[in-house]
Amino acid sequence: MHCPACGGKAPEELGPLAASDQFAGRRLDHPLPPATLYGCPDCGLWFRYPLPDAGVLSDLYAGVGQDQWQHADSGKLRRDWQAAREWLRARATDSLLDVGCFDGEFLAATSGISERCGIERNSGAAGRARGKGVEILGNELESLSTLSRRFDVVTAFDVIEHVRDPRRFLADAADRLRPRGRIMLATGNRDAWSWRLMGSHYYYCTLPEHCAFLCPRWVRQEAERIGLKVVDCRTYSHVATRFAGKLRELTTNLAWRAMPAVFAFLRRQGFGDRDAARHPDLAAHPPMWSSARDHFIVLLEKP
Ligand SMILES: [Zn+2]
Repeated sequence: MHCPACGGKAPEELGPLAASDQFAGRRLDHPLPPATLYGCPDCGLWFRYPLPDAGVLSDLYAGVGQDQWQHADSGKLRRDWQAAREWLRARATDSLLDVGCFDGEFLAATSGISERCGIERNSGAAGRARGKGVEILGNELESLSTLSRRFDVVTAFDVIEHVRDPRRFLADAADRLRPRGRIMLATGNRDAWSWRLMGSHYYYCTLPEHCAFLCPRWVRQEAERIGLKVVDCRTYSHVATRFAGKLRELTTNLAWRAMPAVFAFLRRQGFGDRDAARHPDLAAHPPMWSSARDHFIVLLEKP
C-alpha cells in the first residue's frame, strides 16, 4: 500500500474510519465496511484505505438522488458559491469549466460567461445541467485529464475529496487553464479544530464517498509545486445552522469524544440515527457535525 498522490511507501495509520450506512446523503441497506485513515509523511496527504470497489462506487454515485448536493441551504446561496461569484465578478471571464457540476445550478447562476461547461458523472444530473445551457464535456471526473480545451476558470466544489489522487486532479485542472487562468477549489479542512478534536472519528472522514483529506497548507504546497499562486483562501461552515443546532452538535461530539462506549451501547439499544441493532458495525459511528467551520475555498492563479 502506498500514497495515491506521491507514491510514498510509508503512510502512517492515523486511526479507524467507522463503517457507514450513508452514501452521499442516501441511506444504504447494507453498510459499507470500516477502513483506516492514513497520512503520507512525504507529501502530507491524508487518505482512506481501502476504498470501496470501483464498480460499487460507480453504482452508488449513479443512485444519487435529485436533491443531493444542492446549492441552497435555508434559502441562502452556498458560502463557497458566494466566494466564487465574488471572485468571478472581479475579472471578465469568457469560459468556465465546473468539474462535478451536478445539475449545473452554479453555472446557470453565473452571468456574462459565453462558454459554460461541466463534467458530471451522474447522468440524470448531467441531463438537467444540459437543460440549463451547460455543455457537458465528460461523465467521469477523470475526463478532466483527456480534455484539450482551455478555460479562464476551472471550479470544483466539494469534488477533490472524492478523487483518489488529488495531486493529479489539481495538475489536470491547472493544465486546462489559459494563461492567468484561475482555479476555485472548495473542500473540507482537516486543520479545523473540530476535526483535530475528533481525529479519524470526525464525521467528514467517516463519509465513505470521501477518500482524500486536504487543508489549505497542503493545497498551497501542491499549487506552488506546479507553479500556481494562492491568491485567496477562506474558511466557512458548509451548512448554515442556528445557534441551538450548533450547540447540540458541539455537545454531542464532545460527549462522544469523552464516552464512545456509552454511545455505542445506546446505539445498540436503538437510540440515534443508525440501525446498530441490525448492523453492529454501525455502533461505533460518531455523530454528525455539519455546522462546524470545517471547509475552505481557495483561489489559485496560473502565471
Ligand atoms: Zn504522499
